Amino acid sequence: MAYARHFTCDICGSPKKTTNNWFLVSKDSCITIYSFDAGNAKLKRFAILCGENCLQKYVSQNLDLLQTQPPQDSSINIGSAD
Ligand SMILES: [Zn+2]
Repeated sequence: MAYARHFTCDICGSPKKTTNNWFLVSKDSCITIYSFDAGNAKLKRFAILCGENCLQKYVSQNLDLLQTQPPQDSSINIGSAD
């Protein structure tokens, strides 16, 4: 039998099982949610989450981080023109 890599949830530490609906979330400044893929799950730029509860916790934790880092896109300008 082929070697099966074991994945665990980055929030609660639960081991991945074949029947679970897991998610991958990019760790970039923009939160993007993907369905679980074993190939992508090996990449460090994705958080591995076991379900909606842990997904919500992850997003909540990272919303706090995002509030301290305003987007670098300057397409919205507020205030002085000069
Ligand atoms: Zn979890």
